[in-house]
Amino acid sequence: MNTAADKYDLVLKGGRVIDPAQDLDAIRDVAIAGGRIAAIEADIAASRAARTVDVSGAVVTPGLIDMHVHVYRHFTDFGLPPDDAGVNAGVTTIVDQGSAGAWTFDGFKAYCMDPAVSEVFSFLSVNLSGTLRGCKGGPVIQNPDYIDLEVMQGFIERFPRQIRGIKGHSDSASWSLWGSVMLRRAREIADRNKLPVYVHTGELWKTDEKHRPEPRSVMEETLFFVRPGDLLAHAYSSRDDGVLGKGKPSPRLVQAVRDGVHLDIGHGVNFCFDTARRMMDAGLYPHTISTDVHGDFATHDNDSTLDYSMVGTMSKLMALGFDLPFVVRASTWNPAGVLRLQDEIGSLKVGTRADVSVLDLVEEPWEFRDCNKEVLKAERRIVPRLVVRAGRALTPTNRLLRDVMRARDLQAA
Ligand SMILES: [Zn+2]
Repeated sequence: MNTAADKYDLVLKGGRVIDPAQDLDAIRDVAIAGGRIAAIEADIAASRAARTVDVSGAVVTPGLIDMHVHVYRHFTDFGLPPDDAGVNAGVTTIVDQGSAGAWTFDGFKAYCMDPAVSEVFSFLSVNLSGTLRGCKGGPVIQNPDYIDLEVMQGFIERFPRQIRGIKGHSDSASWSLWGSVMLRRAREIADRNKLPVYVHTGELWKTDEKHRPEPRSVMEETLFFVRPGDLLAHAYSSRDDGVLGKGKPSPRLVQAVRDGVHLDIGHGVNFCFDTARRMMDAGLYPHTISTDVHGDFATHDNDSTLDYSMVGTMSKLMALGFDLPFVVRASTWNPAGVLRLQDEIGSLKVGTRADVSVLDLVEEPWEFRDCNKEVLKAERRIVPRLVVRAGRALTPTNRLLRDVMRARDLQAA
């Protein structure tokens, strides 16, 4: 029987709903009312909804969460428009990793977070200036002279909703130039505020060759500074001084992951299929999937060379052997846990915010390439069809999805 109270704003009808938080993988209708998930049932009559959208043939998941993006456009030279990394890529929540530091956070909030349709969070850089010029360095980037924990503390206290963690770096360059000081300070401010630390790994800055560390020593030293709940970024990177490097993972790394230190994919420019396979062979799986999407480091404000995306990264992990429910969990429920927001996002539990991704699983042969130009053959890939952001249905432009769409389809979109 229909009642006024029964009237939903929107029903997504007939999709394959995958919600790892509720152990659900079945054909269901998802009803939304007042910006929240109102019901998940086998069959919700169209008469009970103001609008019904047929999503049969598609996969319906909690809104995807990308734990690593760079969207401080115009203030950094490699930042993307936030919604191109977010809703226009099928993703409802994005986390900027360290583009903003305390000195530059106000601008990030005013010009990138607040106007975006996507939900945008920040892991604040331990460096006061953030990463103004990407990898190109300059005197202030990752320089211990530009750390002031009291200034950071003020921002963390003022913006507890927006600042969800601390971004630090641990690569050959930072160790060669400054030893452990950056990580120690990141650890200190994170512990003071009970926030996770997100640690970049793999050579990035210009290394002081006179003090270059032995590649394997970098991760071994890093492990002294991470705790359960922290994240090691770029888990499947090709870099010699990365999480894995050459050979096999060290017993200490395996133990750290067992103890609850999380591996994040952070695809970026160094994602490597061979590293992924060696990590998987050792039982080291990603807790979270993320992209590290950013503009070109060599030219100013240019995203035309970006060729990896959230759905592309999920698709590659499937081609490497992970199943769809696993990659959905690592893109929804797990990152929501890192953000300590599982009561709001990351699932389709009734009463939580209606952030939903509707994804097409396109079944056809496709080829992915990694940083070494190795080809990975895939039988299926994920392409976003629709997103619902706080109850509002949007069609993603897919503008930056060069890894999962043909050039002509991107033009048409
Ligand atoms: Zn990054």
